[in-house]
Amino acid sequence: MQFRAASAQNCAYKLAWSILEFMNTPDTPIIKDLVLVGGGHSHVAVLKRFGMKPVPGVRLTLICRDVHTPYSGMLPGFVAGHYGFDDVHIDLGALSRFAGGRFYNSSVTGLDLLNRTVQCDNRPAVPYDLLSINTGSAPQLDGVTGAAESAVPVKPINAFLQRWEALRQRAIAHDGPMRIAVVGAGAGGVEILLSIQHRMKTLRQSAGRNAGDIAFDLFSASSEILPTHNDRMRATFVNVLQQRGVTVHTHSPVVSVTPSRLRTEAGKEFDVDEILWVTGASGQHWPSESGLDVDKQHFIKVTNTLQSTSHPEVFAAGDVASMENYPRPKSGVFAVRQGKPLARNLRRMLLGKSPKPFYPQKQFLSLVSTGDKYAVASRGSWSVRGHLVWRWKDWIDRGFMRKFNDLPIMEEKVRSTIPRGLARADVIKEISAIAMRCGGCGAKVGATVLGRALSGLKPVERADVLIGLHEPDDAAVVEVPPGKVMVQTVDSFRAMVDDPYIFGKISANHSLGDIYAMGGEPQTALAIATIPFGIEEKVEHTLTQMMAGALEVLNDAGAALVGGHTSEGTELSLGFSVNGLIDREKVMRKGGMKPGDYLVLTKAIGTGTLFAADMRHKAKGRWIIAALESMVQSNRLGAECLMKYDTHACTDLTGFGLLGHLVEMIRASEVDIELDLHALPFLDGAEDTVRDGIVSSLQPQNVRLRRAIANLEEAGKDLRFPLIFDPQTAGGLLASVPADKATECIAELISLGYPRTAIIGRVLSPSNRLEPVTIRF
Ligand SMILES: Cc1cc2nc3c(=O)[nH]c(=O)nc-3n(C[C@H](O)[C@H](O)[C@H](O)COP(=O)(O)OP(=O)(O)OC[C@H]3O[C@@H](n4cnc5c(N)ncnc54)[C@H](O)[C@@H]3O)c2cc1C
Repeated sequence: MQFRAASAQNCAYKLAWSILEFMNTPDTPIIKDLVLVGGGHSHVAVLKRFGMKPVPGVRLTLICRDVHTPYSGMLPGFVAGHYGFDDVHIDLGALSRFAGGRFYNSSVTGLDLLNRTVQCDNRPAVPYDLLSINTGSAPQLDGVTGAAESAVPVKPINAFLQRWEALRQRAIAHDGPMRIAVVGAGAGGVEILLSIQHRMKTLRQSAGRNAGDIAFDLFSASSEILPTHNDRMRATFVNVLQQRGVTVHTHSPVVSVTPSRLRTEAGKEFDVDEILWVTGASGQHWPSESGLDVDKQHFIKVTNTLQSTSHPEVFAAGDVASMENYPRPKSGVFAVRQGKPLARNLRRMLLGKSPKPFYPQKQFLSLVSTGDKYAVASRGSWSVRGHLVWRWKDWIDRGFMRKFNDLPIMEEKVRSTIPRGLARADVIKEISAIAMRCGGCGAKVGATVLGRALSGLKPVERADVLIGLHEPDDAAVVEVPPGKVMVQTVDSFRAMVDDPYIFGKISANHSLGDIYAMGGEPQTALAIATIPFGIEEKVEHTLTQMMAGALEVLNDAGAALVGGHTSEGTELSLGFSVNGLIDREKVMRKGGMKPGDYLVLTKAIGTGTLFAADMRHKAKGRWIIAALESMVQSNRLGAECLMKYDTHACTDLTGFGLLGHLVEMIRASEVDIELDLHALPFLDGAEDTVRDGIVSSLQPQNVRLRRAIANLEEAGKDLRFPLIFDPQTAGGLLASVPADKATECIAELISLGYPRTAIIGRVLSPSNRLEPVTIRF
């Protein structure tokens, strides 16, 4: 009996694998969710390794507060002015895409360890099967009166870098003496002090100010500086600090702080202008509040396999982890070293194998710089120093960064088959069923999954919706109030981002754009969604996240979601049929532009080229995040404002690009246009990606309209020229505004939250030429 059961199971496995191998497409169903929290030094190694060798059937998601994660080894060099921002930051957006994963730009606030979800500050909870945490540490401010309010912690580093910018400006402009205190005399404190001092000296000298006006004090709770380093290294830094005029206060724990004064345990008080905090590290509180085992400093206790001592499905590495059997100092070196075993163990767990133990080394090479391209190396009792050591450190650091910022192009094919061991027997059955799913109505997402996914969603209720989701029927029944006319539109497209929640928002916002461009008020929406094939649980999660994003936007717009249709297919897509209401005489049309009007555009353009570049890992994470922010911004307030200033014509920018939509307006209005290329607002990075020759796949079709341009030859030479054909998703409003009202209208649009609003051209009398558009540079 037992043998029979086993062989039946084997047959099921074989059938499933052969089906999946036969499918051999990148659309392998998702079986497990691996979620990485924090983009620290260990997780970047995990991402790189999963990118080089993906595990088919595993969906990888990185959730991180920062889009660009700083490499701690180069931070002092950045502060000292030897490196630029991109030299010292790893782009987590591009790295996640390389890993075939999703990047969620969120701060994690807690875990539901029972239901295996991660709670975030700005999106619905994210489910996981396997979780890994690499969120670093922060200096301990607890217990020091006023430190949290008045001191500047050096970690999180990105928050410090923003404060550093302000401090830099202040130091340049400052007249007379200034005193900066650094609290904490470990390697981080000493190195950051010397780097800041070097930079301020250079900046003040070039601004013609006295560099010696800025004094530095270093406070150490222990009897010496660099307590965890060897004597030779310590002696070198004691000398350097002395030569550089830094006052070192040993045996001086700081116990209270105000913005302009600090007090030590011995009762000594010091007047200071700025206090930087680089003391011993502690962890965030959410891991312990969620129920994970932690140590006294709130660091997650892990075993030799880097698994939580309380929850084996949760891994932790880097500063946030406290290895029970091998305690080590909080240092980037250990976080980097843990990357490889962490990646290996996550992979093994996903494949149903046991994780292997990791034994961290005791000694490690330490390279600490003095800010002026001079560094000291130490390991064990050995130490060496000099400018050559700095060049060595620079070479090591740049090599490390290249591994994560110069990513190779990988072949897609490896993602196609599911490895044995990844799935349980019940899941295998489901995979076999997925491959046999029907088309037509059989492709619909099952009622149970749909019901569960939509159960938490609360569409706005409207009195004019007689039958909607609150009382589901075959179709919705909606009333058009007397005196109003109905505006109708439909839009649908496949996902351009891997984040279903953000995609839901963008899709809903894009669909509402047509209603706003006509001057309408959204009333109801019907959704049409396609979810990639997958096991039930994953289909449900994707649908829940996507509809949660969409519903946020629809509810905000006052549009009631009254129904929809959801099916499974090869790729994620979402669209809406939206109804709006409007007074008959208030309809804004594409036609109606009048000579003398100004052309006003409310959002920057460039989404097409940016997302094309993102697919090739050529877009910086910060560009994509900024483009997404623009895409989820509603046009509602913009449209209301444009109506208030008697706009003669209006449309929203979508797939045809700026010129395509402009030509539609020109034809309907029978006018000519002068377009100012230099006045066009571009999304950050769009000019760079177009200059690199990266354009959307729709661009060639849009470019056909170049025949509408009178001075084509001349205009075509401008590097920004391709951007007028760039297809937009959820773009801004393009309006023809009476000249006498344009300045006031623009000021109001900017104050309403459309900071990139610009006058991009003028409406001219018709010339009756075949080329109604002239471009100015
Ligand atoms: C000035 C200074 C210089 C240093 N120089 C060196 C050095 O030269 N060599 C060295 O080995 N060490 C150095 N260190 C120590 C080093 O910075 C840390 O040990 C190291 O950064 C820890 O790495 P990590 O991978 O654990 O986390 P981190 O590098 O701190 O990364 C944590 C990541 O998690 C993200 N994150 C944090 N909280 C959340 C959350 N709630 N939700 C989502 N994401 C979150 C952050 O955005 C970040 O991307 C230095 C420290 C300082 C302060």
